[in-house]
Order: sequence, then structure tokens, then C-alpha cells
Amino acid sequence: MSINKIFTHNLGFPRIGARRELKQALESYWSCKIDLNALELVGTQLRKQHWEQQLQAGQLDLIPVGDFAWYDQVLEWTTTIGCIPKRHQSDSAQDQPFHLDTLFRMARGRAPTGQPAAACEMTKWFDTNYHFITPEIKLNQEFALSRTFLFEQVKEAEQVLGIDRVKPVIIGPLTWLYLAKGEEFVGSLDSKKLTLLEKLLPVYNQVLQQFSQLGVKWTQIDEPVLCLDLNDEWRQAFQTFYQQLNQSKKLNILIATYFGNLLDNLKTLVNLPVEAIHIDAVRAPQQLAPVLESLKNSSKILSVGLIDGRNIWRSDLDACIETIQKVIIGEFKFDASRLWLSPSCSLLHVPFDLKYETKIDAELKSWLSFAVQKLEELSLLGYAALLKDGCEGSIPSNISSLLATQRSAIESRRNSVRIHNPQVKSRMNESISTDRSHPFDDRKKAQQSKFHLPKLFPTTTIGSFPQTQEIRSIRLKYKNGTVSRELYEKFMKEEIEKVVRLQEEIGLDVLVHGEPERNDMVEYFGELMNGYAFTENGWTQSFGSRCVKPPVIFGDISLDKPMTVEWSSYAQSLTDKPMKGMLTGPVTILNWSFVRDDQPRSETCKQLALVLRDEVLNLEKAGIKIIQIDEPAVREGLPLRKSDWNTYLKWAVDCFKLTTSGVEIDTQIHTHMCYSEFNDIIDSIGAMDADVISIETSRSNMELLQAFEDFKYPNDIGPGVYDIHSPNVPNVEWMVKLIKNAIERIPKENIWINPDCGLKTRGYQEVKQALIAMVQAAQQLRTEFETCQ
Ligand code: GLN
Ligand code: ZN
Repeated sequence: MSINKIFTHNLGFPRIGARRELKQALESYWSCKIDLNALELVGTQLRKQHWEQQLQAGQLDLIPVGDFAWYDQVLEWTTTIGCIPKRHQSDSAQDQPFHLDTLFRMARGRAPTGQPAAACEMTKWFDTNYHFITPEIKLNQEFALSRTFLFEQVKEAEQVLGIDRVKPVIIGPLTWLYLAKGEEFVGSLDSKKLTLLEKLLPVYNQVLQQFSQLGVKWTQIDEPVLCLDLNDEWRQAFQTFYQQLNQSKKLNILIATYFGNLLDNLKTLVNLPVEAIHIDAVRAPQQLAPVLESLKNSSKILSVGLIDGRNIWRSDLDACIETIQKVIIGEFKFDASRLWLSPSCSLLHVPFDLKYETKIDAELKSWLSFAVQKLEELSLLGYAALLKDGCEGSIPSNISSLLATQRSAIESRRNSVRIHNPQVKSRMNESISTDRSHPFDDRKKAQQSKFHLPKLFPTTTIGSFPQTQEIRSIRLKYKNGTVSRELYEKFMKEEIEKVVRLQEEIGLDVLVHGEPERNDMVEYFGELMNGYAFTENGWTQSFGSRCVKPPVIFGDISLDKPMTVEWSSYAQSLTDKPMKGMLTGPVTILNWSFVRDDQPRSETCKQLALVLRDEVLNLEKAGIKIIQIDEPAVREGLPLRKSDWNTYLKWAVDCFKLTTSGVEIDTQIHTHMCYSEFNDIIDSIGAMDADVISIETSRSNMELLQAFEDFKYPNDIGPGVYDIHSPNVPNVEWMVKLIKNAIERIPKENIWINPDCGLKTRGYQEVKQALIAMVQAAQQLRTEFETCQ
């Protein structure tokens, strides 16, 4: 069949709005400044705009509907199938028709109407920085089609797109169950979960039936768990469920997988009785050949995700065209009319539109592509891929010039001196030992005689002190140029002095400067490094109405001058107690940025580690002999497949050690990680060989220390005793109890006492009280344990 364009479609679009309109509307509604009608109106307008924009940008053949969500797309589906915890149901019996406040109560624990109740848990969506609301299920869970919102959106979309382009998107039953939690289930793959499929089936069928009654031709069912480690039982469940789904065959189904490689689930996907499958060929290009191989005798449509939905770089369309040519002309001769093109995953994970970036220079801007631009690329690709095929027909005339622009941007990026710094490159090849020159026991002795800290239970904090409105406002004014450097520095120094005096008064052992000059853990450092850029409007949704604006690593990383030495030395000059220098670690900086895609992430991480190593050594030279390198994001960087963990953990640990290993025997390295799931990665945490690690434990009641007991963590540990996420001030007894609990698992000689995390979001009054109690708890424990030795 001769076609002039390859079929293109989108999997999902950002919903927060170009100007974060949804955020504003939601927050106004939650604080009762606007009513439900006004909120719903904003939603309707945004959906309409987004469909129009997608149509305009991409002339796509299918456009997603139902990717809009008031809070989270998983929660939309959970409520659609009526899986609503009792505590969130409203009193007005059965909650019919569904009220949005029920959804908000599930997400946030409260809403303008109804009784507050504990919110559902929030979890990271695969390895993205998007957080979804975890479905809560019971063994005897019932399901019922409970909302009509999805069908209303289909009707709205029909008005804008025409029904032929409307593709509703829903979450697949296996993915939904995998993500769901409940007391009666252990772990994601608990086979008891699969018993619920029987009850889910009629609801899914009902939804599909309604779609087809509305005239829908295609529906997309997302099953990204097919890129995770499953087992035979789950793979079998896929077959069983989809065989029974949509038996009337009225609707065409596309199963979408993304974020990784199908590997051992490939056959499962390919054999599902559906019309089309989607694979992510950006994250896992190597799966394309085996997928094509296994589709040899099949009439299925294959959707290939070639435009990166997880990053902000302009696509190399020549490379994409080459791939497509290989698919349709090479070994497999895959029928071009059965090939679809799309972004690798939903565009939810990239910012909206580059057009709103007015401050980035033109060159750098030409290297970037946000959601709208990605659809333009996709559309261009749809036509351009067939040009070489000798296909004739009504090919838009400007294709070649668009392709040329694309190509020259890619070339300019590839060769730019802004990206490639020969000095950095040659440093990357130097061999530098990543081991400290002395083992921990020797270091500990040297450090003990250097710092004269209490032998048992030394106290410290994690770095930041409360960031008052005044601090934030001065920082902002300095940034805008409305406050002079002199005034800014004077203010910050006064603030540092205040924090130092407070810590002395409280009697803490290792002090910090309080981090008043930092707005955030990555941006602060990024702004001082070469190779980093910042966007004005590059927001991506993190959870609910919250968005983040990750900075962009575009080139080789280097430093012109030290980043933190001045502040830390000033703080040290104010006190005889040891002052702890504070840095964000290389893995965390990497994980919280958009990262260049022209070299492996491990290389970029090593470049970050090299400049941080310089910073560590500069601090040491300036007399800062205790240095903390925060790595709260090590765990979230873990690959989705267990088989890839070791490679990641190896380079992540190496980068941390490269940062820290240059110091002398009596310089003490701390690290901090504020999460509690250590069991999987405890060996690697140990291998980082920090002298002291502070971790989050107060909320989990020290349970996580089990991991440290089994592993026998070799160095010192500060299990957090003050939950800084709560406004409650812990009392002395409570903290003493927590530490006694820890002593059962960790030798008391290795225990430090500190809060769970930084104090920047808390108020001074509560912080002061809590830290006084913390120091008292340490003293009480010392008295008790020193005498009974
Ligand atoms: N040093 C940082 C602070 O105290 C650590 C923050 C974090 O771990 N997220 O704010
Ligand atoms: Zn923390």
C-alpha cells in the first residue's frame, strides 16, 4: 500500500497548562477562593486548548483523551472503577453522582467539603519524578463503574478533534494492580492481587463498550509494568485477562509499554489478542529488532516511540529516519502502513512549550524541544521517513527546509565549544584513586583526637535551618538585582551568625551554617557550574498541583571558583566548635536535573563528581574538616530492572567516592539520605565508605534499622530522631526510646544523634525546642551508658 506519511499519534500531554493554570485553579479551589464550577471550567478550557495545540503542532492521527487529571491519572482511574476507601467516601450515601471532593480527600486528606481523613499514600511513578496516588485494595474489593468523566471528555474531544482522532487512554488492570497496595497483600507481585482481575474485567468491558458506543475507534491501555520484572503467574494473567476483554471486538486496542525493555515479557506483549502494541525505542532501542522478529507472522500494528518523552533535547531526526528505514526496508520489511510513530511515553514528563523561554540564548534554545516541539518533530518525522522510500504524493513542501533546520541544530550542538571542554575531557581520563587512604577504624581514631567530640552520641543537624520569609525575599531581590551584593552578603552573614549562636546555645556538637543562601539543593550548585542552564518555564508536574523546574545539564561541567568555601569559612570563623561544610552529591545533582543525552549518565555524573571533589578539597584547605555530601536521590536513580542495578550502583558509588576520597585521614566525611527503604541497596551504601551517614528513621520507628543489623554497617550512623515533616516537637523520652531501639542493632559507639532531614521548612520556635530536647536526650543517654560501661 502506498502511503505518503507514517501514522502518528501521541500517548499523553502535559495537563498543568502553559502558565500552570490548573495549579492556580486547584489551589484556589482548595482554599475556597473559587467554587467547583469555576474549577471545572478551567479544566474544560485547558483540555480544549491542549487538544487544539496537539492538532496544530502535530497533525496527529490520534490524540489522547483522558490523560487529563485533576490530581493524578492513576487516581482518576481508581475512582472511575469505584475503588474508594471507606474513610474518603462522603456521608451523602453512595456519593452519587461522584463529587470531586472525594478524589481530593483521597489525594490530600481533606477537601472543601466532607470530613478530613488520612490521605492515600503517594509513590513515584516508575523511575520518573511524577508521583501518583497509590490505589488501596482489599482482598474482597468490589469494583463498579463510578464516574462518567471519561466519557464526557470523549464527547468534548469529539467536538474539537472529530471522533476519528479521539483515543481514550486508560490504565491497564495489571499495571493498576501492581501499583495498588493493601494490608492483605505483600509486595507488588503478590499473587493474591490477581484474584481481583475477575472483578475488574466487567468494569473494563463496560468502559470499552461505552467508548465504542460513542464511536471511538481506538483506545490506549497503558501497561508499563511489562517493562518491569514480573513472573510467570503475572505474565499468564495478562493473557487470561486480555483474552476475555473486549470480546465483541468492537474497539481497537493499543497496549502501551514504556520506560524500558520488555525483555522476558516480550512474548507476553506480542501475543496479547489486541490490534496494536507500543514500545519505547528511546529507553530501549535494542528491543526493536526482537519485537519485529516476533511480529513476523502477525498482523499487529507496531507503534514505535522514537521521540524522547523523558528529556528536553531536540530529536536527531536523521537517526530516527534511519531506524524507520531499517524497519520498513531492512531485514524485516515491516509494512509501513502497520507502523505508527509516537513519543516514547506520555509527554507529561517534559515541559509544555519552548516558546515561553525568553531568556535562554538562541543557540541553546535551538537544541531544546518541549512537548509542543516534540509533536512538531513527530509530524515531520511521519512525512520525512518516507521521502527516501521514493513514495510520492502530497508531501508538504517545506519538509526539506524543516529537516535542514533540525539537522543544523543537531550539528551545532554536537560540535559546540560550549559543550565540549578539552580540559574536562582530559581530566576524565586521569586515573584517580576513589579509596580513602586509611580504613575507617584508623580514620575514626584520628578524627576523635582532632574534634574532641563526645565519645558517645555526638549531635548535629542535617544542614539547613528555617528559611524565613525574610531570607527568601532577600535572596529573590538579590537575584532580580534589586538588592546589592553588599547588602545581600551582610544579611546572609548575620543570618549565619544567628544560626551559629543558636546552635552553641543549644549545645550541639557539630555545627552547620544553616544554608540561608540556597534556594534548593541542585539549582544553587548548578548556577555556579559551567555546563548548566536554567529555564524560566520548564515546569513538569511532580504531584497534584506541584511542579518542579529541573535545571539542564547541557555541557561539560567545570568550575571557575569555589562554590561554598566563603560561607563555610565565615561560619567556622565564628566558633571553636567544628563547622560542617555542606554539598549536594553528584548522583543527586544528576538525578534532579535534565541530563544531556550525548554521553552516558555515568560520564556526566563523573564530571559532577570531579568538580565536587575540588570543592571538598578547597573546603578542607580552608580548614573545614567535616564535610557532608548529601545524596538523598541515590535510591530513586535505581533502574527499573534488577539486572541493571549493579551497573548503576557501581558508578553511583564510585562517583560519590571520587568526590570524597581525596581528603586527609582526619577529615570527616558525612552523607545524608532521607528515605527509609535501604534493604535493597544497603551494601552499596556501605561501600560509599562515608565516616558518618544520617538517615530517616523517626517515622518508621527505627524499623529500617533492621537492614543495618543484617548488614552490619561498618561506619557511624545517625538515625534521625526528629521527624521534620511534622510540626510536632518530639520530647526527650521519645527520642531516648528511639535511640535505645537503635542500640539493639547498632553498636552505641557508632551512633550519632540528629534530625531526619534539613530544617528549612520548619519554624524557629519548634526547631529550637526540638533541638534542645535532642541534645538533652543525647546527654541523658551518655550519662546512662557511659557509667554502665
Ligand atoms: N543539607 C540539606 C538540608 O538540610 C539536605 C536536604 C535533603 O536531604 N533533602 O536542607
Ligand atoms: Zn534529607
